[in-house]
Formats: sequence, structure tokens, C-alpha cells
Amino acid sequence: MKYFSKKYDAVVLGAGVAGLAFAWEFSQKGKKVLVLEKENKVGGLHRTTWYKGFGFDFCAHRFHTANQKLLKRVKKLMGKDFIKKQKQSRIFLFNKFLRYPFEIPQLLRAMPKKQAFYSIFEFVLARVKTKLGKPKIKNYKEWFEYFFGRGLYNVMCRPYTSKIWKMDPVKLSADWADQRFKGIKTRELIKETVKKILTLNFRSEKIEDELFPDAAPFYYPKEGAYKLAEKMAEKVIENKGVIKTNVSVTKITSAKAGKKIKFSLGNKKYSVFAPFVISTIPLHATFPLISPKPPTNISKALNKLRYLNTIFVNLILKKSQVSKDSWLYFPEKEIIFNRLVEFKNWSPKMAPVKNKTAVNLDISCYRGNKIWDASDDYLIDKALKGGEKAGLFSKKDLFGGFVIRVPFAYPVYDLGYKKRVKKIVNFIEKDKKIFCLGRTGLFRWNNADNSIEMGFELANRLLNKSGDTSLLSYSFKAFSL
Ligand SMILES: Cc1cc2nc3c(=O)[nH]c(=O)nc-3n(C[C@H](O)[C@H](O)[C@H](O)COP(=O)(O)OP(=O)(O)OC[C@H]3O[C@@H](n4cnc5c(N)ncnc54)[C@H](O)[C@@H]3O)c2cc1C
Repeated sequence: MKYFSKKYDAVVLGAGVAGLAFAWEFSQKGKKVLVLEKENKVGGLHRTTWYKGFGFDFCAHRFHTANQKLLKRVKKLMGKDFIKKQKQSRIFLFNKFLRYPFEIPQLLRAMPKKQAFYSIFEFVLARVKTKLGKPKIKNYKEWFEYFFGRGLYNVMCRPYTSKIWKMDPVKLSADWADQRFKGIKTRELIKETVKKILTLNFRSEKIEDELFPDAAPFYYPKEGAYKLAEKMAEKVIENKGVIKTNVSVTKITSAKAGKKIKFSLGNKKYSVFAPFVISTIPLHATFPLISPKPPTNISKALNKLRYLNTIFVNLILKKSQVSKDSWLYFPEKEIIFNRLVEFKNWSPKMAPVKNKTAVNLDISCYRGNKIWDASDDYLIDKALKGGEKAGLFSKKDLFGGFVIRVPFAYPVYDLGYKKRVKKIVNFIEKDKKIFCLGRTGLFRWNNADNSIEMGFELANRLLNKSGDTSLLSYSFKAFSL
């Protein structure tokens, strides 16, 4: 046992921002922490990969939070490397780049006239129906139609949602919308929309407007999303915490001191003891590690719970810029990717080469889908064709490209997911020695700020030995995005 102590106050599985936040807070209070990560570096979904001098995050990673205390702490951590940016984004619909979030009058003017009038009629009808009382909303389709009507649902909601999640919005829980739109004052938005529709001028000629910022500013690490994770890891190490990458955790068993954690690093095997294990790894990865084996009802629940995978096609293009947006959305099926992020627009350090730019294009799929196993060349070719269809770039612009496949990228909120998560997490946490944490570990559609908040929260609950140590109900109180 050369590298490791025998005993820790907590062992954290996974060095994403949730695991690192926990380790930072726990070690800050003098506790001995060991973080075990299976990849060769820290950061999890908050990583940046460098290729031919260009930085590529896992899609877009803007830092924004309503929690001022958290913002202050993260800003202090990042110092001058945290730049303030203004978000600008558009969506490619009806062969045009329209503002996103949608500007309803602009959207109506871009639509074929018949469809626009149908959408207005359905919108008004939906408003009248709301006066009759709020029905029990079961899924995302019902949620959207309740607020905006069937016509706008067909254009604004169904295509993009089905393309990302590979399922009809009828099968997605309304929780997803509640969480996604939390913080947006729906009533005011609708009032505003009614006013705009009533004064809509279809004869106005220009549909594609100039870009303008569409939301509160956000923060971004100058040298890529990874810097935030790296700085958190530095804090853990400053506090004498230990972080090991390239680790394969093999078993977690009960012991007098709490839990015995077995793992291997290279060809060496180790075991350490800790009263607490904090799991930020996918629920499906936690189960094979623990004993006794879960009863059939828990395994069944786990088998039905799905994470959505993402494939990132990263391209360097012989163009000085593709667009000025932070990102662009692509709901059309014929275009293989969902989103385009151009890192030059986030920080010049991400694309330091003159007359070239770098983009990330994300494709969602489930494990077992053909696309997950498609070759890199095929995916790059399809991405280039998509870019061509949208009039942004083509094959001749390609300078270099590579593909990253990310399993467990999105927890899928299908109908009944909540019950299953409760069952599974309660089982894992039943002896209050293993705790689930973060986006991946708690199956919560978190942004990074929420994952960090959760890490601090759990550390404090364990330190103070007070309150409910499980974060399950805390995480179900929908986080704002
Ligand atoms: C496409 C995309 C775009 C996003 N955009 C934004 C954004 O704009 N703003 C924002 O704030 N957030 C964004 N997020 C969310 C943000 O990335 C996450 O909330 C956050 O990074 C999750 O951190 P985590 O630590 O909870 O989970 P993860 O990052 O998933 O960390 C889990 C860690 O566990 C490790 N691991 C897995 N299995 C094992 C094992 N068996 N043993 C040891 N380690 C293991 C993984 O390698 C990983 O490092 C986005 C996410 C995605 C996928």
C-alpha cells in the first residue's frame, strides 16, 4: 500500500464537478478524502479536449446560477480566467435561422401562412381552455399544449424534442418541462405572446433579424470548461485530498469501519476503508459494485431506467467563422446533429489559429442504436452534409475532425422514471454509508451549478450529522436552469 492510506473519511467515485465539489468542501473542513476516477483526467462531462491547438468542450458549457453564494465562491476560485459572456442563439427552421428562445411573431411569419393561422387559432383556444381550470398534466406534450396550443406544439416542441430524446413528447414526463422552464414566468410570457400576436404584421419583409443577446449573462473559463474542474481538483489537493485517475473500482463491501472499497490502478490492487462512499457514477455502474445483490424489483427498475448517450463530432474548419452565435439548434431530421457550438465565440483561446474555426456537433442516441457504433468517418461525413444543408460549411472546408462518444450523458425523464429512481437510490443508500450525488449519480437533469451545489450540500449534511443525509428529495425540488 504505497500510495494510499488505509482509512479515509470519505471515498468519492467519479471526479466530475459534483464529486470534486463534495471533496473540496469535505477536505476544507479537515476531512481525509480519496477521489477515484475511471478516466485519465478529472472533469467528467465538464471536460475540454485539445486537438491541433483547438479546444473542444462537451458541447456548450455556460456557467450560470441563481445562487449568489455559489456564484461568488466559483468566481473567487476562477479569478480573472472566468469571463462574462452574453448568450446568443438561433434555431434553424423553415430554412431560416430564427431567434431562440422563440420570438413567436417571427416564428409565425416564417411559417407557411395556413400553418401560422392554425397555430394562432390553437393558441387562442388553449388560452380559453385554461379559464376552465388546469387539467392534470401527465406528459410534456400535454404541458406544452396547455400553455401554447397544438399548432405551436407541432412546430416548436415535437420535432426538436423527438429528435433529441428519440421518443415522442407523450412519453416524456412533464417534470422535464417544469425543470427546464423553471424561473421563466409562464404567465407573463403568455401575456406578452398574446399582445405580440394581436399586433402581428405578416407583411413585414425581413424575417431573419440581427442577433441580439437573449438571456442573462453567463460565465465561462477562458481556457475551456475543463478549467473549472481542474481548479476544484487543485483545491482538493491543497486540502490534502487524494485524486486518482485511471482507476477501476471493483467492489464495495460492508466493514466495521463502514465500507471497504476495492480498486485497481494499473496492475496493482488496493483496498481502503471509509465510513462514507459518495457515488457520482451512473446508477447502472454502481450496482455491480455493491453487495448483497439487489432484489428483483430493484433490478427491474434499474433495467427500465435509461440514460441517453451523446456523440460529439468535433470539426476544425478552414473558415474564419461559421456564425456569431453561442450555439445553433437544428430540429430538422435531415440534419444529423442537434446543436452546433462554435468555441471561438466563447473564448479566443479556444480557437487560436487565424482563418480557422472549430465547432462541436452533438448527436444523441441510445446504446445499441446503429449510430452509436457507426465509424468516425461516417459520422464526420454526415455532419458535413448537415452543415451543407444549413448553408454553414461543406466538405471542402474540413481541416480536421474527431469523434467522442459519451455514454450516460442525459438521464431520461420518461413516464415513471421518478418512482424508479426513488426505489433504486433508497436501496443504494439504505444503510446510510453509500450516497448518490450529481447529475449522473442521482439521475438528475442537472446543470453544473446544480451538481456543485449538491456536492457542497451533501458534504455539509454529513459534516453536521444533521437532517436527511439523502439528497433524493433535495434533488427532486426542481433546479432552475
Ligand atoms: C451536452 C451537454 C451540455 C451541457 N451544457 C451545460 C451548460 O451549458 N451549463 C451547465 O452548467 N451544465 C451543462 N451540462 C451539464 C453538466 O455537464 C453536468 O451537470 C455536470 O458536468 C455533471 O457533473 P457530475 O459530476 O454530476 O457528473 P459527471 O460529469 O458525469 O461525473 C461523473 C464522473 O464519474 C466518472 N465515472 C463513471 N463511472 C465510473 C466508475 N465506474 N468508477 C469511477 N469513476 C467513474 C466519470 O468518468 C465522470 O468523471 C451539459 C451536459 C451535457 C451532456
